[in-house]
Amino acid sequence: MQIFHRNFVSLLISLMLHRHLYSRVCGNNEESNRRRLGLSTAEGTGDAGTIAVVSAKGGAGRTTLAAALARAAPSPMVMADCSLEVPDLALIFPTEVLARRPLESIPCAVIDPTVCVECLSCMENCRFGAIAYREGRFVVDPAACTGCGLCLRVCPVSATGMAPRTVGDLCLSRTPHGLLSHARLRPGFCTSGTLVAAVRGQARAAAEAARILLIDAPAGTGEAFAAAVAGAEILLVVAEPDRTAVRDLARMHAACAGHPGRVLVVINRSTLNPETAEEVRTFCRKEGLPLAGEIPFDEEIYRGRIPAEAARKVWERLGGY
Ligand code: SF4
Ligand code: SF4
Repeated sequence: MQIFHRNFVSLLISLMLHRHLYSRVCGNNEESNRRRLGLSTAEGTGDAGTIAVVSAKGGAGRTTLAAALARAAPSPMVMADCSLEVPDLALIFPTEVLARRPLESIPCAVIDPTVCVECLSCMENCRFGAIAYREGRFVVDPAACTGCGLCLRVCPVSATGMAPRTVGDLCLSRTPHGLLSHARLRPGFCTSGTLVAAVRGQARAAAEAARILLIDAPAGTGEAFAAAVAGAEILLVVAEPDRTAVRDLARMHAACAGHPGRVLVVINRSTLNPETAEEVRTFCRKEGLPLAGEIPFDEEIYRGRIPAEAARKVWERLGGY
């Protein structure tokens, strides 16, 4: 019995070793790559790998990189353009809108003129200057109202209430590189975490059958950024070697602290300023931030395109999708 037990254990160990060696040798093994990067390993369950392309400021090449990754994507994917105020992905790719519905933000104050006794109280108390007297009645500017509800509390006759506020269209479009969830804001409205979450939520639902969900996050590290990257498995930080590159990268690194996903850096136009590019590399080494790629300056970048070869290398670094 003891001999049988010893043989069984050694067989088990040998099987485990074999499996380990196999996955080491097959470096392009998709599952092992996904595990190495901390990605979900579920297949066919709708758990698409979520990759958010982020940058501390606009103009670093974030959307250009997202578009290049979409063109070079090795697996079916869905995109979410969470940069609501500059929704460029829908301009970069030819799109066919498949579904459109109202994009609703937090409720907005409304005033019933048949009840209002024109006491001025709401207008005087609104800290956002959202209430004005026009054409013989009090009206609320939906673009200025924050939905704080103060006017409801100060109105002596309950003439104020809250109503849903439509701030634009939420669209799901077909592109040559997969579905794109995006929004078209009406003039005067700006982005918010709630709106970004709506775009992202629609993309996530559409990504059920796709392996990758690629998010173009809004520039910066504020509320809209947080809503865009929530739950992402990889945060791809785009750094451009300009005067503020290291400071911007440090700010983004701090904003990503505590995020459960992996944070990797791509240096865009890396050959434009070699000294600063080296400072960015040094920062990455010091902070333990892996480089997912460097995109040398290229004539194609003038035309808003990152060479396909550079994008393919980034995908290779992200692990075989
Ligand atoms: S809800 Fe707040 S911001 Fe909006 S109108 Fe009323 S007081 Fe002003
Ligand atoms: S507080 Fe009420 S009654 Fe007074 S102006 Fe505003 S809506 Fe009219």
